Amino acid sequence: MVGYGCAGAAAALEARASGADVILLERAGGGGGSSAHSGGEIYLGGGTPIQQACGFTDTAEDMEAYLLAALGPHADAGKIRAYCEGSLEHYEWLSSCGVPFKPSLWDSPSWVPPTDDGLMWLGENAMPFAAVAKPAPRGHRVTSEGYGGKVLMKVLAEAVERAGIRVHTDTYAGQLILDGGTVTGVVATHFGKTVTYRARRGVILTTGGFADNAEMVALHAPRLTGLGVTSDGGDDGHGIRMAQALGAGTARMSSAQVGITLIPGLVVRGLLVNAVGQRFINEDQYPGLLGQAALFKQDLAVWVILDEQAYEEVPVEERWGVVPHYAAETIEELEQEVGMPEGSLAGTVHEYNRHAAAGRTRTSPRTSAGCGPWNRPSPPSMSAAA
Ligand SMILES: Cc1cc2nc3c(=O)[nH]c(=O)nc-3n(C[C@H](O)[C@H](O)[C@H](O)COP(=O)(O)OP(=O)(O)OC[C@H]3O[C@@H](n4cnc5c(N)ncnc54)[C@H](O)[C@@H]3O)c2cc1C
Repeated sequence: MVGYGCAGAAAALEARASGADVILLERAGGGGGSSAHSGGEIYLGGGTPIQQACGFTDTAEDMEAYLLAALGPHADAGKIRAYCEGSLEHYEWLSSCGVPFKPSLWDSPSWVPPTDDGLMWLGENAMPFAAVAKPAPRGHRVTSEGYGGKVLMKVLAEAVERAGIRVHTDTYAGQLILDGGTVTGVVATHFGKTVTYRARRGVILTTGGFADNAEMVALHAPRLTGLGVTSDGGDDGHGIRMAQALGAGTARMSSAQVGITLIPGLVVRGLLVNAVGQRFINEDQYPGLLGQAALFKQDLAVWVILDEQAYEEVPVEERWGVVPHYAAETIEELEQEVGMPEGSLAGTVHEYNRHAAAGRTRTSPRTSAGCGPWNRPSPPSMSAAA
């Protein structure tokens, strides 16, 4: 096994459980990878005990319908189906390893909630998805202060140790060994020394992504070039290249999570508009989808338009330091300050409020999660943050 993040730990444990003699190779001084840096929010559904304890019913079919709609077009339908059909089993597997989830709901949009609540919405209750699949919150958060990835990896590492799996750290896998069309080993380096591993049954690569390899990013996902990267710093893509060198195929290399620095709690209380003052997505969708739409469709020229009351409603500690770039007394003044065409933002707000006044909101009537309409026709003071 090459790479000791969450995928490596899971594969190693399962291989061991099926009787294999496993060695985990890890380039860093210890396991963890980007998994240990992550929020520890794991997408699970189909009626997990945590969902049930929080009063939600869910099915694998609804989970699948949501993911197909949210990840499309061209989503990998086979993989999504397997992921959803296996979701309860995945939850049980994590639990059996000792991964903790608290049976309580954080009922407000967020990247990472400020509490240790174990369940959160990840856009399931936003339109148009709420009309496609019965909404249920599926973000399962590993119980932790702040980001849960560190707890996830600590618990999985304990399970790896209990299972007697050998871990060789500071060991960088550089090349796969091929014998007659079969991968039979790995050539690695350990403090400058070459170490050769012979695999009796196979080699599994779980080396993470390539976000830290600028050349690969430019080649496969050029739209992401030059943007900030969130990773453990070691996503050099070498594991992928080792496999490619033997002729392995790759898929979806251009896909990426776009972690735009918008505060979901602020966005849902306002309007998200482009450079010409037009809304381009429902503000209560999963923040990763907002980021993708902002980058791929609007070239990141986007603004969150808020009134003062909405801004104040979000506690300072949940604003992650975001402050307004512009403030004005009226929408017209604001659009002028930001440099939008005359009447553009004012037109958007007028239309939005006309629909809101008629009871047509962007929030599904089937849910109550806090994403109310933005229906304050004459805000005392407007501000824009981006
Ligand atoms: C700040 C942050 C927050 C995130 N939050 C979430 C979240 O809440 N929910 C979610 O689903 N996802 C989240 N993600 C994404 C998620 O962390 C990753 O998709 C996931 O951890 C990838 O797991 P992995 O096991 O494939 O890779 P990793 O965890 O990166 O593990 C790969 C391991 O392979 C090792 N390795 C690489 N190359 C070699 C080599 N040649 N030889 C030996 N070892 C090698 C690396 O050192 C590393 O330890 C977040 C990511 C970040 C950075």
